[in-house]
Amino acid sequence: MTGRKSRSRHARERRISLKSAEEIARMRRAGQIVALVLERLTEAAVPGVATAELDRIAEATIRSFGATPSFHGLYGYPANICTSINDEVVHGIPGDRVLAAGDIVSFDVGATAEGMIGDGATTAAVGEVTEEARRLMRITRESLAKGIGQARPGNRVADISAAIQHHAEEHGYHVVRKLVGHGVGHAMHEPPQVPNFVDGRVDESPELVEGMTLAIEPMVGQGTWRVVQDDDGWTYRTKDGSLAAHFEHTIAINGEGCEILTRRQAPGRRQADATAVKVRAEGWGGDLEDVR
Ligand code: MG
Repeated sequence: MTGRKSRSRHARERRISLKSAEEIARMRRAGQIVALVLERLTEAAVPGVATAELDRIAEATIRSFGATPSFHGLYGYPANICTSINDEVVHGIPGDRVLAAGDIVSFDVGATAEGMIGDGATTAAVGEVTEEARRLMRITRESLAKGIGQARPGNRVADISAAIQHHAEEHGYHVVRKLVGHGVGHAMHEPPQVPNFVDGRVDESPELVEGMTLAIEPMVGQGTWRVVQDDDGWTYRTKDGSLAAHFEHTIAINGEGCEILTRRQAPGRRQADATAVKVRAEGWGGDLEDVR
């Protein structure tokens, strides 16, 4: 789930918590549940399915691992996941609405396992979608990968923001300003904020250090960065009614880069090679399809 952009001094001065290896292990578990749920939702996003049914699938999957849906009840949120269709950017509430061929739908999922949270999102195509919709989804997914490519010790949060913004805008798209990525772990929204645009001075942006855990989540609009909120108090949509896409991973900064906690990891692969999912700035560009 995205955070709201805040300029308050209080928000800036809250301390960033660094997680231990044991805490990150629990976040990895939560993250793997999120990854599986997103995979199942993408498969289930076919014409004719109601978003409430997708919410049910997500909840059942999360609970089958003894975990809980992190969004339910958060700030009073009434469902387990967010389902945001077409011009809806984030925080769409599942309900009676039925998916139609040609829709794109963004799924945002949080799972809490043993007290630690994983947060992830993906945008899926329902049946055949337009070439332009596909391009928006691809560029947004690539923007996430570019941001993750900057997530390493010594860089700053603003390096992540700049990479995301540059890639989206270079392709003629717009990054949402009102909503941002965030620290995550014990709580859904921890400091620091992770904007998808450069906000203020780069050298005043928090430095990335080992043990920091972040939800990086570009929200990209086809025609505008401006969003409006529905009367339901949750759903954000693009002001001009153009399409929006949203991709998100929870990552943990490690010694040399970061680990993507919400990307599916093959069982045993982690034990065999703990560095398998580390991301380096160089070389990442060729592996974009791997990021969902
Ligand atoms: Mg989030």
